[in-house]
Amino acid sequence: MSNKEKLKEIEENCSKDSLPLKETAKNLVFGKGNSEAEIMFVGEAAGKNEDEQGLPFVGKAGKNLDKLLEKVGLSMQDVYIANILKYRPPENRDPLPEEIKKHTPWLVEQIKTINPKIICSLGNYATKFFLANGNVDKMNDMPGITSVHGKTKLIDFKGLKIKLIPLFHPAAIIYNQKLLPLWEQDMELVKKEIKVKQNTLV
Ligand code: URA
Repeated sequence: MSNKEKLKEIEENCSKDSLPLKETAKNLVFGKGNSEAEIMFVGEAAGKNEDEQGLPFVGKAGKNLDKLLEKVGLSMQDVYIANILKYRPPENRDPLPEEIKKHTPWLVEQIKTINPKIICSLGNYATKFFLANGNVDKMNDMPGITSVHGKTKLIDFKGLKIKLIPLFHPAAIIYNQKLLPLWEQDMELVKKEIKVKQNTLV
């Protein structure tokens, strides 16, 4: 079975799971992009537009992400993108620990299937989530995105060995253009990591 088919099956099973937030959301927001990608981006949760369309990063932040990728010579075809939460929390409130715990196994399934070389956490929330190895109760003790962006860290996330590179959230870059050169620098590192891995495989 191809990765694409596997993801389709996981998405179908996820849609049948009685996950918290399902009742208040319009659609499941599972993931999009290249199922064979070497880079996986992980955000926090869907917003209004994503909830309406059933796809991650299609609103303002998503449009900026498309632009940001283009600037560094990449496109959505080079990445797979998903959120920690598979349904939108009402009014974009912070997800509750119990909600994250119930949603995380679906993210684990996505990561296992895609098996990316690099995971980039987008923004503060997703970064703290991964740095805490998915342990919600430890997230508050983790350093914020401003101090760890662009720094590679090997983590053990629910039994998966992951090379994490935190990136600023594309929504934050809309409001603070000073972050743009930092994002570009960090993406150069992401691209280099992929090349290095490829070379060592040859
Ligand atoms: N922000 C996120 O973290 N995820 C989305 O899907 C959209 C905005």
